[in-house]
Amino acid sequence: MENKQPNMIDPFGRMVEYLRVSVTDRCDFRCVYCMAEDMTFLPKKELLTLEELERLCTVFVEKGVRKLRLTGGEPLVRRGIMELIRNLGKMLDGGGLDELTLTTNGSQLAKYSKELVDAGVKRVNVSLDTLNEAKFAEITRWGRLPQVMTGLEAAKKAGLQIKINAVALKDVNEHEIEHMMQWAHGEGFDFTLIETMPLGEIDEDRTDQYLPLSRVRERLEEHYSLSDIPYKTGGPARYVKVKETGGRLGFITPMTHNFCESCNRVRLTCTGTLYMCLGQDDAADLRTPLRQSNGNVLVSQAIDEAISRKPKGHDFVIGRNSAPSVTRHMSTTGG
Ligand code: SAM
Ligand code: SF4
Repeated sequence: MENKQPNMIDPFGRMVEYLRVSVTDRCDFRCVYCMAEDMTFLPKKELLTLEELERLCTVFVEKGVRKLRLTGGEPLVRRGIMELIRNLGKMLDGGGLDELTLTTNGSQLAKYSKELVDAGVKRVNVSLDTLNEAKFAEITRWGRLPQVMTGLEAAKKAGLQIKINAVALKDVNEHEIEHMMQWAHGEGFDFTLIETMPLGEIDEDRTDQYLPLSRVRERLEEHYSLSDIPYKTGGPARYVKVKETGGRLGFITPMTHNFCESCNRVRLTCTGTLYMCLGQDDAADLRTPLRQSNGNVLVSQAIDEAISRKPKGHDFVIGRNSAPSVTRHMSTTGG
């Protein structure tokens, strides 16, 4: 494509090809492991405009990013988001971008699925931790399950490939995992489990929530044949094929199995801060160079400088009374 620049390669030889963009820190849910109920959000004036977000994404694509994932907060609650998605979609099909996708809580999918497909989005990750209505309301505090189920139906009908992401929570959905997997595979969805990560202050003790996926896998293996497969989506999940359901099951295990050695991603927040690692505090401000000139030279230099500082990995620890490893919430950096 035009303006093609040298690829971004970090000090450990990893090529950065994947950008996750948190387009808003706001959300229509208040999941217990993600947010405190009473959250203070960024003042609107601190946010990059949608045009600025688009400009930054374009610079990253020119510098070698091939996969963009929009996240948040809840990406689909940001006003005007579809316009950004449509514009970013123009970089697909020969414009340098291989994939445009998003992670969503599913609450707005009934409204937007068709438009997403029209914009070139082929796959979405939908976060869903339980199929039990009462439990869903407990976990998400403000969310309601039927709304998400309607959204999923619309997404399926529109032709989106769907991956269900569930955070494994001790005593909460621990005993529902098998049922959820059966359901997801029956619907033709991939199903991925995630370990809770110590990000941001929440109202509860994370030790009470943490469920190692090694234990979940052992339990599943008592009833199912799981075989490792090389399937990759560019993310950190490792996949197995489940013989009995014919479906794919993914494990994202930042706590029990560190996947930093193959990390190919960086994360941009809605204020233009670039985090080179989800689990470290070091960050680069891209908003200032973006606003300093109409050209992209300064921001491109700031990105190069940031990539040269990408750390080797995170050091997450969950222990009783331990402070979060990083103080910002997942909804700030984007999951
Ligand atoms: N609102 C959207 C959603 O829920 O899919 C996108 C943003 S959300 C922060 C992205 C993902 O991060 C969700 O799958 C959520 O379950 C996960 N998440 C949030 N806080 C987490 C934590 N402390 N540990 C592990 N996963 C977390
Ligand atoms: Fe919102 Fe997603 Fe965080 Fe839940 S996990 S509070 S849906 S941002």
